[in-house]
Amino acid sequence: MNKEVNKEPHQGAKACSPGYHRSQAAKGVIRLRESNLWKPTNYGHSRILDVIRKLSGNKRPNLLNNPTDYLVVREDWDDNSVINKHETSVYTDASVTKTGTGIGIYSEALNIQKSYRLKNGCRAIQAEICAIGEAVRLIRASGKPLGNVIIYSDSQAALKSIASKSVRSKVVMSCQEALSWIRGDGVGLRWVPGHRNVVGNTGADGLAKLGARESGAEVIDSPLPPISSLKDAIEKITLEKQKEIWQNRNDCGIARNLWPKIDNSRTGQLLKHKKNLVRIAAGVITGNCAVGVNLQKWKITNDNYCRECNEEEETIEHLLCRCPAIVNRRFQIMGQEFLDGLEDAAEMEINKIMNFARNWKCFRSEVVKKG
Ligand SMILES: [Zn+2]
Repeated sequence: MNKEVNKEPHQGAKACSPGYHRSQAAKGVIRLRESNLWKPTNYGHSRILDVIRKLSGNKRPNLLNNPTDYLVVREDWDDNSVINKHETSVYTDASVTKTGTGIGIYSEALNIQKSYRLKNGCRAIQAEICAIGEAVRLIRASGKPLGNVIIYSDSQAALKSIASKSVRSKVVMSCQEALSWIRGDGVGLRWVPGHRNVVGNTGADGLAKLGARESGAEVIDSPLPPISSLKDAIEKITLEKQKEIWQNRNDCGIARNLWPKIDNSRTGQLLKHKKNLVRIAAGVITGNCAVGVNLQKWKITNDNYCRECNEEEETIEHLLCRCPAIVNRRFQIMGQEFLDGLEDAAEMEINKIMNFARNWKCFRSEVVKKG
């Protein structure tokens, strides 16, 4: 401010005039924008470019120039002041559902109401970008003069991707290519908030849903899914295969009873414990531990009777579910005096089984030879 006051009187007066500093700041912003040093957002001082656009009375964005051109603020939609009656509006939307992926393009002025179904599954943002690309093709095909056409999308992420200068995605490149055909023809992009009952947006939304649902909708090649979703798909297929193998095995009886299905969260709970406890739990779950039946098999003991109650064979199932000598411990830890079978234990938190198993004789480091 001091710097401004020290200037010539007329300059000082100018500096004190309303909006001067704002305009200086705005010019600074424009310089920064041109040198790609300005990071536009939709809040705070960064919104200054929106103000400039309003001052100039020109809301029509330059195609692919800068996100601030098309990411109009939500407030502008309060009174629909964004929509200019001299412009031709084309709305796009995408819908990703369990039954499929659809895109919709809607324009009352150009008489476009188009639903497409995308061939391969892809992410919502890819479908949104794809919809914009298709809109461009339809606008060109309409044969109408292209002045003042605005393509609206409710996906800020899609618009930002399209405006991005470093692009590796084929979908974005394809959309950018389509846009480049009409560059300079007065076609622009603009954001419209979804679910605000903006007629065109609602229309495009309905068409996209139709494309996702109807098997009759025209099918077009969709962008290939991104690497991350391919990885997800591979993991899913692998897991299904593992499940199938596990369920169809004839061996590993105890393990398949106590761990009937591949369960990542249960595995996570197990692996939280110290290595020694995990070893104990793995012994119980697989049946490969020093229970009576194994001790006899390994010729360490002469009989396989339960060392707690001496009534039955000492098996994992006996100890876990039925041994009468450890009823109290079972009740305290598992909340039940007896279990019906290993299937009951399979439904329990793995921590309970681990706590219960910790004190069994079969896990003591020394094995007491019987008889
Ligand atoms: Zn017993």
